[in-house]
This record gives sequence, structure tokens and C-alpha cells, in this order.
Amino acid sequence: MRPTIGVLALQGDFREHVLALQATGECDTALVRTVNDLSAVQALVIPGGESTAMSKLAIAFDVLQPIRERIAQGMPTYGSCAGMIMLAREIIDGRADQETIGGLDIAVRRNAFGRQVDSFEAPLHAPLWGSEPLNAVFIRAPWVESCGAAVEVLARVESGPHEGAVVAVREGAVMATSFHPELTSDNRVHSYFAQFVRENV
Ligand code: GLN
Repeated sequence: MRPTIGVLALQGDFREHVLALQATGECDTALVRTVNDLSAVQALVIPGGESTAMSKLAIAFDVLQPIRERIAQGMPTYGSCAGMIMLAREIIDGRADQETIGGLDIAVRRNAFGRQVDSFEAPLHAPLWGSEPLNAVFIRAPWVESCGAAVEVLARVESGPHEGAVVAVREGAVMATSFHPELTSDNRVHSYFAQFVRENV
């Protein structure tokens, strides 16, 4: 079956995710802003952006709880950067009123890389997406500070002061990256996700 993958389109770089998914040739795409939109998709991408704003909008648009329910029912979900924060169980350095969707048993630190390197690119090896390194783009990115036993670490920062920091994880059908593959022409993360959706829904 050719799945329809939704992209949460409340805030952030959802257009880039739509283009990246379309470029895989493996799926159709739809923007998700309402519960009705959500019911029409088999999987969801949560984009990069600003997690505090996205959290407020998700509550205002009444989609926070419905997305939680779909994830609990096994909907494949992928989040980049702010999307990773939205999928975390716990946020360190979040705003007091900031809510997450959850789905990943991880604690993330917002803006973890600090001011001096708030944006940078680095090669990452992540065997799940192939043997060639990915050029990972980090923009005021979070990292995964701790994760539960069921969480698989997919990639870590490989050099520099933050060597070893966990920047890609998955747990069951939920996957997240601190970086933004949607901003590069390397489509392997989106291809992997679309393929996973094809095989699992
Ligand atoms: N720092 C942002 C946040 O806290 C995430 C940045 C991004 O998505 N590029 O939500």
C-alpha cells in the first residue's frame, strides 16, 4: 500500500519535510493541523521549529492528545529537532508550561549545544541509514540526555567538545533526530521512514 504520511504543520519547517518525503517517491503527503487531518494519515512527521510555540499551538488546535493516542496505538512517527523535543517524555531547560506529546522514553536538553555552536554541521555515522556518513545540520539543537532501556541510540556526535552526545534515537515505531535531514539533499532518513511506514501500516 502507498501510505500517506502527514506532516504536523502548525509551525516550523514542515514544507521542507513535505518536499523530502515527496522526493522519496514512497509515499503521499498531507499537512496535519486538525484531528480530521490526523485521521487521514498513516504516519506523522513533526518538524523542526520552536518547540514552545509548537506545544502551545498543538494545544490550541486540539491535536496534542489525539496525536498521543495515535502514537500509543503504534502510528509511526518521526521528529526532527523541535520535533524530537515534542516526542520526549521529559524536557530539561524547557519552559515551565511547555507540554510534550511524548512517545519516546527520553529526556532531552533544549538548546544543548550552547551559544557558541548553536548551529553547526557534522558528519555522523548511523548504520541504520547506510554506511556513508550523513552531513547532519544542527540548529539550536537538543541532545538526548538520558534514555530508557527500550530506546535504541542511532547516532552520536563523533568529535569536538560534545563528542558522544546522543543525537538520533528510536523506540518502536517512533524515531527522532536532533538534526535536520530535511534541510539537506540527502534523503536517507526520510526514505528509511517512508519504507518503514510502507512495511508497518
Ligand atoms: N531550539 C528549538 C526548540 O527548543 C529547536 C530548534 C530547531 O528545531 N531547529 O524548540
